[in-house]
Amino acid sequence: MDSTKKISHLALDIGGTLIKLVYFSANGDYSEESRNGCSVVHGKLCFAKFETRKIDDCLEFIRFNILHHSGVQHPNGVAHDKLYVKATGGGAFKFADLFKEKLGILFDKEDEMHSLVGGVNFLLKTVPREAFTYLDGQKEFVEIDHNDLYPYLLVNIGSGVSMIKVDGDGKYERISGTSLGGGTFLGLGKLLTKCKSFDELLELSHHGNNRVIDMLVGDIYGGTDYSKIGLSSTAIASSFGKAISDGKELEDYQPEDVARSLLRMISNNIGQIAYLNALRFGLKRIFFGGFFIRGLEYTMDTISVAVHFWSRGEAKAMFLRHEGFLGALGAFTSYSNQSHNDLKPHHHTVQRAILNCSGDNLRHIPVTSNLNDSETIECSINLV
Ligand code: ADP
Repeated sequence: MDSTKKISHLALDIGGTLIKLVYFSANGDYSEESRNGCSVVHGKLCFAKFETRKIDDCLEFIRFNILHHSGVQHPNGVAHDKLYVKATGGGAFKFADLFKEKLGILFDKEDEMHSLVGGVNFLLKTVPREAFTYLDGQKEFVEIDHNDLYPYLLVNIGSGVSMIKVDGDGKYERISGTSLGGGTFLGLGKLLTKCKSFDELLELSHHGNNRVIDMLVGDIYGGTDYSKIGLSSTAIASSFGKAISDGKELEDYQPEDVARSLLRMISNNIGQIAYLNALRFGLKRIFFGGFFIRGLEYTMDTISVAVHFWSRGEAKAMFLRHEGFLGALGAFTSYSNQSHNDLKPHHHTVQRAILNCSGDNLRHIPVTSNLNDSETIECSINLV
């Protein structure tokens, strides 16, 4: 990392599987201008993630790349002053003592659901070309009409899955969820294929064929469709259903095919439950987030087809470019919503940072240019 960089406003989302970080990195020249009595700092939002089980890597990253560049590095690497950062997710509770002890960081905790919704609203309102549909191999960006954004269904696929009906800024309700989520895919996948990581499992699934293991309608109907009820011969009648009749053991299947069936099963199931919940509340737009998706075409296609099929084209599945960082972004944007009168002023944890308003009284960061490389977001913030 460039030693001239200035980092501020770190926010963490510590989940069951991954730790997500969002932080603001001011431009090298620390260009600061005054506007209405505030300092406007230009820079970008940066993103990083670590496996929760390797939390020490995350602590080291923060120590060397963030504390150092925010001017709070001390000889023993621990900040002497009280240093508050926004944190959300279960790990904000579980690991609070560890961060305090190792880095001198105190967590200013933000509610997990609140942060997820805040993160999505922030992205949809401020980042151009953030949301897109994916169907039949076609990716299409969705124009978001700020005046017609709500209500929508947010389906966050992390280790587990939360489904949240969103009616406005800070107006939401968790209406459903399922424990069959990204953690199930990874956990079962590791057991069944002996692979070591999520990336390895995805790679396997990429080369597999689910029809080897899944029982299709055509397998039951002798190769024909069940057209009377609208089921094609290639529709899955029973995930992993062929394994019961083949007289085969797990070793007789290719790990690629197992991984593919598993990915299909989890994605299909989530797509269907999402559709049913959208139906319950008459929601037409469903945004899918969480690190399970990872921009993978097969996953997005499966989810989209499930939503499209069950809703007969009425509901639309949409995906987000910063899908994995929703909670962390929500926690980050909450720096703008509160004044921390109880906190010690510090030039890292700015007492009150108002993220630029774009004239419509929404407190958020306007994006000054499109996303540059894969993940960073060009932006500016107001410091007061
Ligand atoms: P949580 O907050 O519960 O950790 P995330 O949104 O971070 O949830 O998603 C975690 C899920 O993302 C995992 O269960 C797994 O399916 C998937 N995943 C994507 N990339 C990785 C990775 N590098 N390591 C582990 N899991 C990953």
